[in-house]
Amino acid sequence: MNRKFCLDLTKEELDVWCHENGIQSYRAGQIYKWLSSGVTDTSDMNNVPAAVRAKLEESFIFGGLKIRQKLVSEIDGTTKFVYELYDGNIIETVVMRYKTGLSVCISSQAGCKMGCTFCASAKLGFGRSLSSGEMFAQVAVSQRNMGERIRSVVVMGIGEPFDNFDAVMDFVKLANNPEGLNLGARHITISTCGLVPMIDKFAELDLQVNLSVSLHAPENELRKKLMPIARRYDLDELMAACRRYVARTNRRLTFEYSLFAGVNDTPAHAEMLVKLLGKGLWHVNLIAANEFPGSDYHTSPKQNVRRFQEILESGGINATLRREMGTDIMAACGQLRRGMENKDK
Ligand code: SF4
Repeated sequence: MNRKFCLDLTKEELDVWCHENGIQSYRAGQIYKWLSSGVTDTSDMNNVPAAVRAKLEESFIFGGLKIRQKLVSEIDGTTKFVYELYDGNIIETVVMRYKTGLSVCISSQAGCKMGCTFCASAKLGFGRSLSSGEMFAQVAVSQRNMGERIRSVVVMGIGEPFDNFDAVMDFVKLANNPEGLNLGARHITISTCGLVPMIDKFAELDLQVNLSVSLHAPENELRKKLMPIARRYDLDELMAACRRYVARTNRRLTFEYSLFAGVNDTPAHAEMLVKLLGKGLWHVNLIAANEFPGSDYHTSPKQNVRRFQEILESGGINATLRREMGTDIMAACGQLRRGMENKDK
């Protein structure tokens, strides 16, 4: 397929396309505005003549992000979109409401190669990486559907963003564009499971984008069981890369730590984590992860979570606690896609 997905187009490419097709140049601005506001169906572009719309359809892929399902949590209003891409791959996007406004968690790949044993996305294997436009489209289409501006983006849904590095960095540029989403880099967070060379590559770009690293275990053997990536890069290598990142960017890094009952949530694990992290420009985000059907892991009891947080804090590590949102709609990464693909099969 040589045609580009419409939201992969830059304004400059649309300028060239208009010029090549004998279309007045101001049409490029009109079309770009529609695309950036999440319109991916040409029939909605009501100030663009039918002949131009037909030409657009011929030249580019539209309808590459169809809403297959939209679920709204009755508990906290978290909204989950299940999108179908032009080739039938399924991804998920979750919009959460915070005091500061709406935040969206987008997918960077359809499926994931990383194989974390606690993750629903890993269980269905890998489809393909997403283009920058497909990431952009998740924000723009979700924003349009919600009827409210999205204030921040986390690239923490299905997929490992650093396994799709260039497209994710292009997405950051698209999101920054004042003619597009106009989202400041500081309002974007990228989360990695710990691809060490990519952490260095990302640090060199010196962007204002936030980085978070999924740790989930304070020692190598346990981390290997939870996250196969730990067989490639052990904790010494990972922590060294995190220190280089902080030294190079002077930006605060977040460690994500999901707590699973009896696996990684005991006081001994918390003490090991205090030792591992030591002093640094970082904080820990503790996540009381929810169970999903077929998972081998169980939610950590509240008292374990509280104790874990207290030990970190008394060890001088700043730790916040994040409850998973949208539990009634299986809002955590990959859970719905898994249900849907199983059904499709
Ligand atoms: S937790 Fe993230 S990196 Fe690990 S398998 Fe799931 S999507 Fe991939």
